Amino acid sequence: MKKVLDWSAYYDQGLGDAYADIPKHGEDFAKAISVCIRSGVCQEADNRGVMCPSFRLSEDPLLSPGGRVTLLKQLLNQDEQAFLADPQLAESIAQCVSCKGCKRECENNLDMAAIKVEYLAQKRRAGHHSFRSWLFAEFPYLLYEFPFLGRLIRIRNRSKILRILAGKLLAINETIALPEPALKKYADDYPQQQSNEKARDLTDNDACIVLLVDSFTALFNPNTVTDALNVLNAAGYQVITVHPDSSGPEKVIDSGRSLFSQGYVERTSEQAKNLLSILRPHITLNRKIIGLEPSALLMLRDEYLMLNLGEEAVLLAKNTYLFEEFVAREQVAGRFKVTLNTTANEKRILVHGHCHQKAVGAMKSMRKVLRRVPNLSFQFIEASCCGMAGSFGLEAEHATQSKQMAEQGLLQALDADPSAVVICNGFSCSHQILALRQRKAIHLATFLASHLQ
Ligand code: SF4
Ligand code: SF4
Repeated sequence: MKKVLDWSAYYDQGLGDAYADIPKHGEDFAKAISVCIRSGVCQEADNRGVMCPSFRLSEDPLLSPGGRVTLLKQLLNQDEQAFLADPQLAESIAQCVSCKGCKRECENNLDMAAIKVEYLAQKRRAGHHSFRSWLFAEFPYLLYEFPFLGRLIRIRNRSKILRILAGKLLAINETIALPEPALKKYADDYPQQQSNEKARDLTDNDACIVLLVDSFTALFNPNTVTDALNVLNAAGYQVITVHPDSSGPEKVIDSGRSLFSQGYVERTSEQAKNLLSILRPHITLNRKIIGLEPSALLMLRDEYLMLNLGEEAVLLAKNTYLFEEFVAREQVAGRFKVTLNTTANEKRILVHGHCHQKAVGAMKSMRKVLRRVPNLSFQFIEASCCGMAGSFGLEAEHATQSKQMAEQGLLQALDADPSAVVICNGFSCSHQILALRQRKAIHLATFLASHLQ
């Protein structure tokens, strides 16, 4: 099997009985699957904290990480191609929301989200194409190339007939609104942040940082960029922004998350190389690269290392931080010198974590940063995946599961506190909250910007 991802890191991963029953076909991809030692931890129905949203919902072992592995092993033992045609595996993989819960909680760190990408890419290579999948993969790039699509989305969201039509023709979930781009995207001509009067000496490498703006934030939440710049500037950093338009209209600069999630690995590598070439001068200087949207930024730290991008990608991964991780880290180092004040009529705060934030332990940073605001009353929502998970909640066949996942904690917490401010850094989760409860969640950067002295 010619694999699309680099699985060599799995050469010696795993504990105990891992690798005891590596399937005959698939080489190092088969090894990555075989790290599962069938402990069954991911299939304990009475374990409320069980990692996998599709298993939590269905209690069907075949919809758990371990169940998916069992199917894959059986099929990869038959021949190299059998796993691509099996309908049971196709369904089981389709219900994986790529939350990385297994990577975080399985004792052998099974990475089903990456396995799913290899599976999707192999399927495409074997001739299984889907126009909808291509549409979701290329969504941000299409919006850059054809801005009128934003208007079309707004019309579709308000027209019952168009919703039904898109459901019939493209299998898009007609019960939910699609995310609507802002009227003006973030670019160099976006109304700028406050001047940076407190900028520190640029010979101090820690004072000069790069804010990497992903396409979803630039297109849908451009004000979040301005808010992040205001906060970072107020704390004395010199911020260089790199955004999708940074290299002109011909090339959209982006992490490639939407492409990767749909298994378009070659296109993702193209995007990654473009991004690396733009970031090269900063990587060489060991500058910190800060991102706002968890799944977009964490690509650089995780998935890029499976794309054969060389040493530069390793260096980049080491210097990449989520906004909250960076602020928390700087706070601890005593370099984040801003005063945050409670506002008049401060409301209670609910915080919803993106699955990928949770997978890398970034919620600790969220807590640390929020504690910086005096007397703030905030609560983390106890929930698993919000159910939107990239395109999952927009797919007609997943409409019910998506809503049910949201009902497992998230919606109850929102309903119990209708006037609370919701902080959520994930693009998909914020969209789910808006679509199902008409509440506009804000990014931590926006919250901090509104609390600057
Ligand atoms: S995926 Fe992980 S938690 Fe689930 S059975 Fe395998 S080893 Fe155990
Ligand atoms: S990535 Fe998430 S949804 Fe997929 S198998 Fe792992 S825990 Fe389950």
